[in-house]
Amino acid sequence: MEQSKMGTKALWAGEKEQLVHGATQVPVIHSVSFGYDDLDEWYEVATGQKDGHIYGRNTNPTVKAFEEKIRILEGAEAVTSFSTGMAAISNTLETFLFPGDRIVSIKDTYGGTNKIFTEFLPQKQIDVELCETGNHEAIEAEVTKGCKILYLETPTNPTVKITDIERMVQAGHDVGALVIIDNTFATPINQNPIDLGVDLVIHSATKFLGGHADALGGVVCGPENLVEKIYHYREINGATLDPMAAYLLLRGMKTLHLRVEKQNENAHKIAEYLKTVDWVDDVFYPGLEEHIGHDIAKQQMRGFGGMLSFSVKGGMDTVRYLLPKLQFANRAANLGAVETVVGPARTTSHIECTPEERAAMGIPEGLIRYSAGIENIDDLINDLEQAFASLPEELMAKG
Ligand SMILES: *Cc1c(COP(=O)(O)O)cnc(C)c1O
Repeated sequence: MEQSKMGTKALWAGEKEQLVHGATQVPVIHSVSFGYDDLDEWYEVATGQKDGHIYGRNTNPTVKAFEEKIRILEGAEAVTSFSTGMAAISNTLETFLFPGDRIVSIKDTYGGTNKIFTEFLPQKQIDVELCETGNHEAIEAEVTKGCKILYLETPTNPTVKITDIERMVQAGHDVGALVIIDNTFATPINQNPIDLGVDLVIHSATKFLGGHADALGGVVCGPENLVEKIYHYREINGATLDPMAAYLLLRGMKTLHLRVEKQNENAHKIAEYLKTVDWVDDVFYPGLEEHIGHDIAKQQMRGFGGMLSFSVKGGMDTVRYLLPKLQFANRAANLGAVETVVGPARTTSHIECTPEERAAMGIPEGLIRYSAGIENIDDLINDLEQAFASLPEELMAKG
């Protein structure tokens, strides 16, 4: 399994051990506990001397199949899962950070992650240093001063900035820091951070992994000695992934490679199209040669991803007019779904931030985040074309 190609892994990995009654598909085990007639066997499982399940907050067979699939796709030694992506992030940070510790990260992390950095960690006397995203020298300078964790995200939400993973791993490991990355935007189809030396890889499974916008979940992958600690924190603190959600995410992941390949292709074509539109000021997509992180992205990614963003003339007034005109796009806060999803950055990824905080992060109020779905590309471009054509000219004058 570990030797097979991504597409084959997406379909077959992690399932076999959980199949019962000759079923070809993983069952959804809705059971809070797992009973034992043999009290000695129960004791052996409960103390980890024997494989098995005890209580649903700790482990569950359906959840295990989902975890194994992502573990194998990320090429990791171990994995554990969570009720949401934010639970994966907060539980991982809480496992390793204590009062007096220091963490270095970037300004453009996911909005919720940014809130942890700016609100919750400082309350616990944890020192947080957020560097300009993409400024590798600035990050290195801060890391060199010493830190327990270097936390990265690439590409970032919503302007898809790129950070050089290998270079950051070098800087982090030089000072003995744990290097953690949120790989949600890239997916394991486009990027495997563990191959580049990263210690822990986090996903919001809610997005591309599940891919159908019908289940929340999160995962963290990495070496056994680290994941074991995070699992222990989670099993006690209780942010457990529900078996039904695990099943939906597992089923979604069977088509991960097909979806992501199509989304890569659609996003690239949409970005190229948007460059030709008079209404569009800026297009952000790492697949565009003029994108600031293009060369690094080309080196560390197999595909440039399904996410892009663009700013329009006339700012928020234009956005308000344009987005409701789109027929083939959900105006919603999620991303990575089979359907195209659009929204202003200020109400999607960075709703938790104030306008001043967004401005400091370089996010214009009129920025549109575009998560390419797997629709026929001609329909997506025609849809944008008719929406732009419907805009009143006076908005353009507002610049
Ligand atoms: C959505 C998202 C999260 C949070 O995931 P939830 O499942 O919504 O808790 C974290 N990181 C990134 C990059 C995301 O897009």
